[in-house]
Amino acid sequence: MGLTVGVDVGGTKVAAGVVDDDGVILAQLREPTPKTDTSAIAEVIAGMVDQLRADHPVEAVGVGAAGFIDATRTTVLFAPNLAWRDEPLADRVTKLIDLPVVVENDGNCHAWAEWRFGAARGARAAVAVVVGTGIGGGMVVDGRLYRGGFGIAGEFGHVRIVPDGLPCGCGRRGCFEQYASGNALVRCARQRAADQPADASRLLDAVHGDVTRITGPAVTEAARDGDPIALRCFAEVGRWLGEGLADLAAVLDPDCFVIGGGVADAGDILLEPVRSAFDAALTGSAYRPHPAIRLAALGSAAGLVGAADLARRR
Ligand SMILES: [Zn+2]
Repeated sequence: MGLTVGVDVGGTKVAAGVVDDDGVILAQLREPTPKTDTSAIAEVIAGMVDQLRADHPVEAVGVGAAGFIDATRTTVLFAPNLAWRDEPLADRVTKLIDLPVVVENDGNCHAWAEWRFGAARGARAAVAVVVGTGIGGGMVVDGRLYRGGFGIAGEFGHVRIVPDGLPCGCGRRGCFEQYASGNALVRCARQRAADQPADASRLLDAVHGDVTRITGPAVTEAARDGDPIALRCFAEVGRWLGEGLADLAAVLDPDCFVIGGGVADAGDILLEPVRSAFDAALTGSAYRPHPAIRLAALGSAAGLVGAADLARRR
């Protein structure tokens, strides 16, 4: 089978790569995401595809985007953290490059890539939870991506877990992603480092004492060095995440959860509190099989690889 291009549109960068049918990336490019004009994103994607196909025969393009994608996989209906509303993304890109284009939710791309090539291989019901700035997700059930009735299943980040809780980019309050995401980790670290600077010395050293410069990777680094505040924030975010997975298990009964996204770079520092909160919160915990909870195997490439593979199977 031929080669396809996978594109991962994030809030800050667009990554595009040529991928073969074993999920191997043969060439890759990165560009900043245009901030001002949503139609400019289509031009950036088209430019990257043109560059990549100069050296590789490409037969289709898959675009993974953080938003609600319609059932025909052409239009971004709504993006909680980007300005897209009813954006005909596939048509815009096809017009510029004259290749078939499939648009997929980025969480779906991650789930598909991990099930095909990564940590969820062989699972009967795999649930991927992508913990980055927000929380995305996707499900592969009996070898098929589960898209729901209208194409927008798997928006785990916007399940309300705290009535009248923190405001969310989607316009509602108390969403899961406000408590268990990279943003939640950073918020926790900034607050606690300001309140208890003596317990956050490693974290504060890394940002020259300026709590507003604390980022997710800085919290991960500090936690690895044993910073008490960084570790406490991972424990807190991990607990929310583990409890959220237990709720997902009540509905979906997966045999495998895969945790990906930038926050999962912390490895066991995140997984340990997730697993213990999950075990405690799972209904009938002592009387049922527990799913595996694994770290994603493909890292940040999963979105791109999944989008490319789904375009191949369009
Ligand atoms: Zn929300």
